Amino acid sequence: MSTPPICPRCGQDRLHRYRFKSDGAAFSLCTECDSLWWPQTTTDIAGALFLDDVVAARLGEEGNPWTTRVWADVIEAVPDEG
Ligand SMILES: [Zn+2]
Repeated sequence: MSTPPICPRCGQDRLHRYRFKSDGAAFSLCTECDSLWWPQTTTDIAGALFLDDVVAARLGEEGNPWTTRVWADVIEAVPDEG
């Protein structure tokens, strides 16, 4: 198993594999700064999205999506393969 890259935005954590519970769409997430990358996106600063923005957009909301829910309602960690 390869070691996931360090977050290019904050340098504080490695990128973790998460997915949306609703449809299983997987992405890479830094849990320190909440930066998100889709699999087809290069994991650099230019390609980084914010988890809050992506979640809000998927839910058809604006602003902070975490006033009425928590991460575990929406996303979950992808278990390591093997
Ligand atoms: Zn980060």
